Amino acid sequence: MSEASSTAFDVLVLGGGSGGYATALRASQLGLTVGVVEEDKLGGTCLHYGCIPTKALLHAAEVADSAREGHVIGVMSSLSGIDMPAVNVYKQGIVDRLYKGLQGLAKSRGVTMIPGHGTLTGPDSIDVAGVRYTGKNIVLASGSYARTLPGLEIGGRVMTSDQALNLDHVPASVVVLGGGVIGVEFASVWTSFGAKVTIVEALPHLVPNEDEALSKGLERAFRKRGIDFKVGVRFQGVTQDDAGVKVSLEDGTVIEAELMLVAVGRGARTADLGYEAQGVRVDRGFVLTDDHLHTGVANIYAVGDIVPGLQLAHRGFAQGIFLAEHIAGLKPVPLIEANIPRVTYCDPEVASVGLTEAQAKELHGADAIESLEYNLGGNGKSQILGTAGFVKLVRVKNGPVVGVHMLGARMGEQIGEAQLIVSWEAHPEDVAALVHAHPTQNEALGEAHLALAGKPLHAHD
Ligand SMILES: Cc1cc2nc3c(=O)[nH]c(=O)nc-3n(C[C@H](O)[C@H](O)[C@H](O)COP(=O)(O)OP(=O)(O)OC[C@H]3O[C@@H](n4cnc5c(N)ncnc54)[C@H](O)[C@@H]3O)c2cc1C
Repeated sequence: MSEASSTAFDVLVLGGGSGGYATALRASQLGLTVGVVEEDKLGGTCLHYGCIPTKALLHAAEVADSAREGHVIGVMSSLSGIDMPAVNVYKQGIVDRLYKGLQGLAKSRGVTMIPGHGTLTGPDSIDVAGVRYTGKNIVLASGSYARTLPGLEIGGRVMTSDQALNLDHVPASVVVLGGGVIGVEFASVWTSFGAKVTIVEALPHLVPNEDEALSKGLERAFRKRGIDFKVGVRFQGVTQDDAGVKVSLEDGTVIEAELMLVAVGRGARTADLGYEAQGVRVDRGFVLTDDHLHTGVANIYAVGDIVPGLQLAHRGFAQGIFLAEHIAGLKPVPLIEANIPRVTYCDPEVASVGLTEAQAKELHGADAIESLEYNLGGNGKSQILGTAGFVKLVRVKNGPVVGVHMLGARMGEQIGEAQLIVSWEAHPEDVAALVHAHPTQNEALGEAHLALAGKPLHAHD
């Protein structure tokens, strides 16, 4: 590689997804020169194949349910069908607008976009199509891909979220393999659109990483919606032909459906990118870093889904901002993983921050922990919306709230205050003194804290 063909930056980022572009935007704001290598589209998985398109589908699903159920509250509406190509146009319109905005933002901040496939070729260099780019700091942000199981081939009627996002029709029936976030969100959309859905989850519960109360609550709600699920049973195999798929499970069950969605998690996209050759430590595909996101090699850092932990876009954004500030010498405070909010946007929504009750008991001892569930039955706005659910608080006795866990339509919107409560280590008494507007679902958070502080208003003592 000739020196003449090299371009040097303060920060050179490999991957323009949530983690990579947040690093780039913040670094350029701080006066650093920045290059971003991207082989597909700025915005990455979240904007083009993840958060945004799925949430557009979930909104269309909510509108479909409202139309179908309008008569229940005296609105003479009905659902005559789902025009999937039109839904896709709506979804793509949102992605396209955001993509245009993001490209404009990167340009206006002076970020140099380097299109093409990048490979780490030295402690300070990335090669793209025969050109060597160097950076005083290198940020690996190559993201993730939809995983499958050994021997389970993706193709035809067996698909991942990448293909499922672009279906041109509503399938009559689907088997969703995996009851985690992506699986239950697609199960929710397809059910609202009229498909018959069966979820298969090897672990004992849906959304198995959440507090068990949320998992059980979601299972109750899904049962009511007619979503079938089989938990604690493992997938054995699938065959497909012109008629559909036959999915067999280890307990002998065979489920027939039009197609199968494989939603068994996401692997880190780190293979064959030169990381290990440069001495970067990789464990099961994930890049190991310290709490400052440093890989331990030269000035090479990593952000986003390739770093073990929650695979969420806002974690990537926060890591990117942290890293840019760290590189600029601002001494930012490292992120606390447990305080990153988590929302699953199925109906009803699942939203949580902080420790589950089980984690809190393990950390502080079972006797030191107290929990409380406030039922949305006592919350006016939730009754207006017709949603069941609850707010569960986990606190250290005579100490702060360490976990907030919420279930119910639109409860994801309440995660902001919940995050402040947990991150600022508020005591229930602190929150109980704050006024929550009536009638909002936000009141449910206030009421839960009133109850935990020993003075419930719209709840029984
Ligand atoms: C269906 C689905 C729904 C989701 N919903 C949500 C949600 O609601 N909320 C949420 O917070 N998160 C959600 N996520 C997760 C979220 O999308 C990811 O956490 C986020 O995109 C991770 O950002 P990243 O920057 O680490 O990686 P990515 O967004 O994957 O970006 C990595 C980028 O690097 C590029 N790249 C990789 N290798 C190279 C190379 N060698 N050369 C050049 N470019 C390269 C890729 O093209 C890609 O653009 C969802 C994910 C999926 C799949």
